[in-house]
Amino acid sequence: MIKLAVISGKGGTGKTMVAAALADIGGVPQVLADCDVEAANLALLLDPRRISTEDFCGLEVGRIDPDLCSDCGICADRCRFEAIMRHDDAWVVDTLHCEGCGVCAYVCPMGAIEMVPHVCGEVYTSVTDRGNLAHARLFPGSGNSGLLVIEVKKRAVALSDGAELMLADGPPGIGCPLIATVSGMDAVLIVTEPGIAALHDLERLVTVCRRFGLKIFVVINRFDLAEDICREIEDYCAKESLTVAGKIPFDPVVVDAVRSGEPVTRRESPAADALRGIRDSLYSDLGLI
Ligand code: SF4
Ligand code: SF4
Repeated sequence: MIKLAVISGKGGTGKTMVAAALADIGGVPQVLADCDVEAANLALLLDPRRISTEDFCGLEVGRIDPDLCSDCGICADRCRFEAIMRHDDAWVVDTLHCEGCGVCAYVCPMGAIEMVPHVCGEVYTSVTDRGNLAHARLFPGSGNSGLLVIEVKKRAVALSDGAELMLADGPPGIGCPLIATVSGMDAVLIVTEPGIAALHDLERLVTVCRRFGLKIFVVINRFDLAEDICREIEDYCAKESLTVAGKIPFDPVVVDAVRSGEPVTRRESPAADALRGIRDSLYSDLGLI
């Protein structure tokens, strides 16, 4: 099974639009993974039917037993993350700030603190008419998004029976969730747009992805909005031997399709035509067709 992640240097480049379009017109047995767990939108465009929901526990957090606590305050003094506070005349751990270091449990003279699992999101498995989908939701304020991405990828593998492609919608940026997404992948499709900031983002992403030995493809969305910078991006790709899988023109139909919650490839439009060409070139290079 070929594993392909669609990623971008920042949000708003059209990454999920491209991922949903590829999922829609892929034409190969596939499993889908929405690894953008902080803004999971792939499901919004693919009308999934959910078949399971499970709690996701990230790192453990401290929990204080008020019956054992002697009110000495040592734990609050030692917590470097200021996660222990007074509430209703008792010491409590603020789970939004707790980093799970375990120092409080170690220093408490009364043994009143234990480290316990903390539910910080949900993992879903769903069925779409374009393949099974693993996705998730990280609760607001929760960390551990990289761990949740890894969980989503594990679910996708478990759902991949007979699939020739795992298509992942990755997170924007180059942080922990991106690293968790691209590790173990075969290839990435970087969605960029014609802008100086986007070019810098592209360069940073390429540097990261090269460390993982990935095949790197680039697609330039809304390329006709600034054709001079688009040429700069193409020059950069040529210099770095990166394959430009295609360019998508600005197309109001894309906005309409996304607003209606459907892949743009369900409508006839210049953007849909470009995406079909990108699919052909990309999947041919990956040996899928
Ligand atoms: S260190 Fe232990 S005993 Fe002291 S305030 Fe914290 S929980 Fe209570
Ligand atoms: S586990 Fe660490 S971060 Fe969390 S409350 Fe205890 S000392 Fe603070």
